[in-house]
Amino acid sequence: MSLTEDLAAAERPILDRLNDEQRAAVTAGAGPLLVVAGAGTGKTQVLTRRIAWLIATGRARPDEILALTFTEKAANELESRVDVLVPMGMTGAWVSTFHAFADRLVREHAIELGLTSQLRVDSPAEILVFLREHLFELGLERYLPVGRPDQHLRSLVALFDRARDEDVSPEAYLALAERLMREAGDDPERRDRAQAELEKARAYGRYQTLLLENGRVDFGHQIALALRLLRERPWVRRQVRDQFRWVLVDEFQDTNYVQFELIKLLCGPDANLTVVGDDDQSIYRFRGARVENLLAFRDAYPGAREVVLTRNYRSGQRILDVSHRLIQHNNPARLEALHGFDKRLKAARSIPAEVGHAVYATASDEADAVAGDIAGELAAGTRRAGQFAILARTHQNLDPFAAALRARGIKFHRSNTRGLYSRPEVQLCLNVLRALADPDDAAAVHHALADPLFGVDPADLARLNARAARRHRPLLAMLGHAVSDLFEELSEGSRDGIARFLALHRLLAGDAARKPTTEVLYAFVSESGLLTRLTAEDSAENLERLQNLNKLLGITRRVSPLLAHDRAGAFIGHLDLLIEAGDDPAAAEVEIEEDAVQLLTAHNAKGLEFPVVFLVQVVEQRFPQSYRGDQLPLPPELRRGADDDQMEQMREERRLFYVGMTRAQDRLTITSALDYGTRYARKVSRFVVEALGGEAMRRQAVAASPVEALRRHAPPVETPPARPVPLDDDETLTLSHSQISAWLACPLQYKYAHVLHVPLPPQAAFVYGIAVHHALRVYYQHRIQGLPILVDDVIRVFDQAWTDEGFLSREHETLSRERGRDAVRAYVERAEREPMRTVAVEQPFEFRRGPTEILGRFDRLDRSGDDVTLIDYKSTPVPDQAAAGKRAQDEARDGQLGLYALAYRETRHAPLAFAEIHFVGTDLIGRVRVEDEHLIAAADRIDRAAAGIRRQDFTPTPDPRTCAQCDYARYCAFSALRAPA
Ligand code: ATP
Ligand code: MG
Repeated sequence: MSLTEDLAAAERPILDRLNDEQRAAVTAGAGPLLVVAGAGTGKTQVLTRRIAWLIATGRARPDEILALTFTEKAANELESRVDVLVPMGMTGAWVSTFHAFADRLVREHAIELGLTSQLRVDSPAEILVFLREHLFELGLERYLPVGRPDQHLRSLVALFDRARDEDVSPEAYLALAERLMREAGDDPERRDRAQAELEKARAYGRYQTLLLENGRVDFGHQIALALRLLRERPWVRRQVRDQFRWVLVDEFQDTNYVQFELIKLLCGPDANLTVVGDDDQSIYRFRGARVENLLAFRDAYPGAREVVLTRNYRSGQRILDVSHRLIQHNNPARLEALHGFDKRLKAARSIPAEVGHAVYATASDEADAVAGDIAGELAAGTRRAGQFAILARTHQNLDPFAAALRARGIKFHRSNTRGLYSRPEVQLCLNVLRALADPDDAAAVHHALADPLFGVDPADLARLNARAARRHRPLLAMLGHAVSDLFEELSEGSRDGIARFLALHRLLAGDAARKPTTEVLYAFVSESGLLTRLTAEDSAENLERLQNLNKLLGITRRVSPLLAHDRAGAFIGHLDLLIEAGDDPAAAEVEIEEDAVQLLTAHNAKGLEFPVVFLVQVVEQRFPQSYRGDQLPLPPELRRGADDDQMEQMREERRLFYVGMTRAQDRLTITSALDYGTRYARKVSRFVVEALGGEAMRRQAVAASPVEALRRHAPPVETPPARPVPLDDDETLTLSHSQISAWLACPLQYKYAHVLHVPLPPQAAFVYGIAVHHALRVYYQHRIQGLPILVDDVIRVFDQAWTDEGFLSREHETLSRERGRDAVRAYVERAEREPMRTVAVEQPFEFRRGPTEILGRFDRLDRSGDDVTLIDYKSTPVPDQAAAGKRAQDEARDGQLGLYALAYRETRHAPLAFAEIHFVGTDLIGRVRVEDEHLIAAADRIDRAAAGIRRQDFTPTPDPRTCAQCDYARYCAFSALRAPA
């Protein structure tokens, strides 16, 4: 085949079945391209095919492509769609969310911004804790009520976020406030306002400084930093532009001001930039999204090609008609009305779509009717569960539907639910922490004892409580003292539970006063037998519980360093405060690869499609939600044109409803109830009338039958165990060195670590290793770029990366830190004396072996003549040179060095000459010449592990040596260290 024939063959499946407009967009040449089109017209389709087409026709290498979108889910979806189209895959292309992209950019160029690349990105809740600790440094007066000093923090953070979304710097804010003050003259009202703005502007500036001084950024700041990087560092801009010759953005209507600025800087003047969007689906205005960006695109790139798509491939015509009727109520604030696009959609599918509306008496009738409807279709075998979606305005609105489906034993999947803190396993941990912080907290002790882990009988607990109350003694104190008379009367189970609780409490109370919260918590989950219970049996429920514990430990680990004094007492105080303030991270929901009804908010449903959609709880004040302005709004002088008034909020709610409606393919059912347990009856939403007209407003207040009503109280059907699903042979499996070596050491160890994610204790060696790696990385980054750096600077970097987690005691920590500093100092001093050969540090790599993808990171690469040497740092010592050499040999033959040598050859297409392990802190270096046999052995290890993992083979292979090294041996039932029973 000739080259042109070859290309044509590659092109054919990519252009297959596209309509003329779509094809024009996919195959448009270089330069800016704007696709504006309604829902379901194939915008995302065009984007993925365009990427595939660029790669397949040789116009772009995968690594020259950057595709940006808003959610992880959408990014994964994009990547997998292109993977199907291009046989060689997307390896190397950046498909990413805006946040992830900004994060990577900022980290890679942290030095340019005067930051450390060890930046921590904090969640909004973490930012609140951090700010609370630094409250008095913000210079607040008016916004610092003495009674509850943190009352305004949330509103302040929201204000700072808005400012950054609108690209308003603290300097610009301050300038405005000062101007207002000058102009106010003697007018007391104007002076008062200027004073308020001045205080907020200063707090904004201090906030930014505080974050940076402490090496933290929040989500909003990340993009602002990326923008600053590209604005202030022309050569970084050049570098990034050269790298990403093609940029594509999905859901462009949801970009905010800074995001569009970032895109413009990335693309430069001759922008190979494709954006697709729909103004009617702009639903993130509250985060600063500007649908105006679609118009601004035309201004920024006057010569841009424009493509309008009007054929809808998703829904039946009736669904399109009612959706269009609804959205026209947003006129004239729409592109269709303003700029004469015709966005009326024509259905390509000629299916008889159904649209209906039903009203019920109560929320539970509504939920039950929907569940009943689904159950009916499932029983009739007309549809699978996965073909149904239930969409609501908020996560909370979905609760009754989850309950109704559960009561009928219908599988469902809910993403992004909140409620981590109300999960029983998390509650248990919190109650134990509370009981440790304050042994007199009877409620905490009570709830902990009642948990199945201790299993104290409720009747016994009631008696104990009554007794404690009569004697005016705290519950715990009474349990521990002369109650033997009462003990006689308790059940055996209760006595055992109490004894275990008391023993554990005594054990942990000592720790609680001395050790960081994470460790105390970890000691609790491992010593109490909780982890053993949860890992003993595979079920979806246990998996969720483990993940929730992980999340909780993740929170304590991250929140601890924010606290001046990290002990259980202080920690629980903070956490209770956050919970009270409404902070509640999402609990884990196991993604079972099974057919299940999807429960989603309208926001999360964006871009997705389902044969049957129920839009539920569609009443006034729920959908649309009532107007809530910002507590501390950004001054109108600083906003960019957006009129954040009540009207605009209503339009946004309408667009959100439009998004919900247009997810449906064959059937759309809208439901409302009159009674949601509030004092007043609800009114059916205006959106129903707007979409369906008066005709559809027939009331069907369906009272539930007594049997139905009873069924609602039935206990939930047990969730079946999650069966491991073997991977298809061609499905991508991504592995790292540690995953491969875990599976080869013991498949069960792999399962604990990488399938179940069983929590691990904080480990001091880990902290030490990270800090050493980080310090050396920053040192060599400076050397490579020819920037000056002193030994003392490197030590400072080391200190910044240090945390006090996982050490046995204060002395242990001090000693380790001293030792780490000495090790880094000695290493750097030696490096200063030697010629500089380093060409790269912390380089990520990825390569494929068939459907298996291997990811990792080279610590360091040195070059001398033509020979490249791979260097891996170890911070664990070896006794002598012989041991160092042997270790390097072993690692090359059967470990990380071998794998990395293979990675080098696969990604650089050149051989690696040597591999070295530098034992930092000992002056010893183990060195090997890389041989073919090392590469062959590494490839074989990958293949064996990948095959086992694909089969989902997690059979334990206990052995005293392996088990001694294994973090999970402590509660693993198969451990060889355990005395045989
Ligand atoms: P949204 O506005 O909701 O994000 P969209 O415009 O991105 O929608 P897609 O999700 O890309 O639309 O496409 C909607 C559906 O139509 C998908 O199932 C897609 O596979 C299908 N589709 C798109 N173009 C065609 C075509 N030319 N022929 C057949 N099906 C198509
Ligand atoms: Mg889309």
